[in-house]
Order: sequence, then structure tokens, then C-alpha cells
Amino acid sequence: MIDFPQAFSRRRFLAGTSCFGASYALARLIPLRVLPADVADDARVSELPLVDKGFASVRKIGNGLYATISDLPKGTTVCNGGFLVGRDAALLVEGFATSAGASFQMDALRMVSQAPVKGALNTHYHLDHSIGNAFYGTRGIEVWAHPAAARRIVDSYTPLQGADPAAALGPVEKRMKDAKSEVERAHALSDLNAFTTVFRLANASVLTVPNRPLGPEKLPMKVELGGLTAVIESYPGHSGTDMVVRVPEQNVVYTGDLLANGWYPACLDGKATVSEWRATLKTFASWDKDTLFVPGHGQLCGQPGIATARELFDDIAEQAGKMFKAGLPAEEAQHRYVVPPRFADFFVFSWGFTIGAAIAKLYEEWREKK
Ligand SMILES: [Zn+2]
Repeated sequence: MIDFPQAFSRRRFLAGTSCFGASYALARLIPLRVLPADVADDARVSELPLVDKGFASVRKIGNGLYATISDLPKGTTVCNGGFLVGRDAALLVEGFATSAGASFQMDALRMVSQAPVKGALNTHYHLDHSIGNAFYGTRGIEVWAHPAAARRIVDSYTPLQGADPAAALGPVEKRMKDAKSEVERAHALSDLNAFTTVFRLANASVLTVPNRPLGPEKLPMKVELGGLTAVIESYPGHSGTDMVVRVPEQNVVYTGDLLANGWYPACLDGKATVSEWRATLKTFASWDKDTLFVPGHGQLCGQPGIATARELFDDIAEQAGKMFKAGLPAEEAQHRYVVPPRFADFFVFSWGFTIGAAIAKLYEEWREKK
């Protein structure tokens, strides 16, 4: 479980924990140890994990390819990642939410290979994928990322370090107080919980920023590991810094948060755009029908996972579009979206991070078109 900063009042603590309990209950619906149907029969995916620590397991998913799949509420790693290991070298994917998370993945790599590590890629700057970089810093491992990632880590998370939690979380608390309905209050509470998690993670570690920027002039970048070639590419949508690792010879892709399987998409980032994200998913859908995806969160999936992620965006856009045409303000539309029964099991990290932000961004895009 995630502990809350001691400076929190008892009231805030209770609000936070009760909400956290709710999201934990939801997260438990995501099957973690049983492989989902679309990959259970995939010969590339080993049935037994290489290692399983509860908060994450590491599984072989191809020739020299491994996926680290996390159980978010248990902390430590929080996001998914993995590693690629050839005859001559290895490449790590993600910095995770804590140094212990990055260290766990490194230990898993060392269970199968002593090959030197070329680098550790952060698929994007978000703290659940980058804060554990401190571990790589102590090991002299290069951290690779989009050129904007280092600046955005510093700009986004330095102000939270040592900040007064009451001041940092005050605006979301105010939204809870000012809520006009129980629905709005519940949405604000879910956001408070999410911001609290971000605040806690940012305060728990020193920041280590990526030291090898992969600019557009370098992409797509081939990484030769010895009998295994990885290709790093950049696609827009989730954070303005999104990179994926593809292994075309084996049809395997590490997507970062451009895919969060079984989740409502997190669109809150200032550089997230719904239209570009949907275009990126369309590109993913155009890849080989046997493509195996390692999402940034949630379980491994094949093309059906991409199809569902696209349907989810279609549904948000359809519901929001009707409200936009009816002249409903964005602020209200954000709270009126109804989760359809077929997405009832989908994880909502917080309303404002996901559905609310997606609707706000769609409104912006539609207003610009007018
Ligand atoms: Zn993210």
C-alpha cells in the first residue's frame, strides 16, 4: 500500500485512503497471473514467469525479450517495462516509479544474462516511468529518452519535492468542497487520490534525468544487441515525449503509455492530444496481426487490445460529441460521461486524469475546428 505524507491531516488521510481502497478494488479486477485470452496461446509467451514479486512479474515473451508487468496498487514498479537481451548487449525499458523497481528489473535481467547494458529507455517522462532512474545513475547506466523528457521531469516534479502537501493538493480539495453533485464529488475525490499518489512518489526519490536524448534526427534508431535488433520510434498522443521499442523480426512492441491495456486512457498531460493518440493507435492496428504489445500499464495483449483501446476512444468521442453539439459546456460534459457496460471493468486511474481530460481535449479540438 502507498503511505501518505505525515503532514497530511487525519481528515485528508482518511479521504485519501478510502478512495485508494476503491481504486484498489477496481485494480484487483485486472487479471495479473492468468494470461489474458489473446496471448494465452501465444507460443512466444512463457506460461511461468521468470520471477514474480507480487508488485511485478517478469516473463519471457520472445527470443531474448522479457516483459515486466506490474500490479499498480502494490507500488515499487507501478508501470510495465521489460528488457531485450542479445549475444552482446542488453537494453532496459523504463525507469519505474522507484529505484527499487528499476533494481528489481536489473536483477531479473542478471538472472538470464551478464551482457553489458547499452542503456535504459524511459518511454516518456511521467514519474511512474522515470523516477527510479536514480538506480541507473548509481550504476553508470545511460538513460535514454525523448529530448524533452529531462526538462519536463525537472519542471513537473522538482516543484513537488519538499512542497507543503496542503498547498500542492489544495486546489483539488477545493473542487471536492465546491462540488455541485455527488458525482462531481466522487470525481474530485478520485483526482485527489491520484494527485496524492503523484505527490508521494515525487517526494520519495531523488530525480535523475535522462542523459541521452534521442532526437528526431536519430529516429527510427536501430539498436543492435547481437542477433537481436530493436528499433526505437516516437509517436504522439500521451505525453509529448512518447517512444516505443519495436522488435520487427518478432512482431513485439513495448508501447509505453500509448497503450494502457484495460485502462481508460490518461489524457491529462499538457501535451496529450486525443486526435494524435487515436492516429497512433490506428498505426499500431496497421502492424502485423500477430503483434504482441507490452503496454505501459495492464496486461500483455495482441491486436484485440488495440482494437478495444480504439473503441474506448470512439465511445468517449461519441458521447462527448453529442454533448458538444447540444451546447453543453466542457466542464459539465466531463462529468456526464457514462461508462458503458462493456467497459465496466476498465480501470479509471482518476476521473480527471482520464475521461475528464479526454473530453476537455476533444472540446478544445472541436472548438479550434469551428
Ligand atoms: Zn504516462
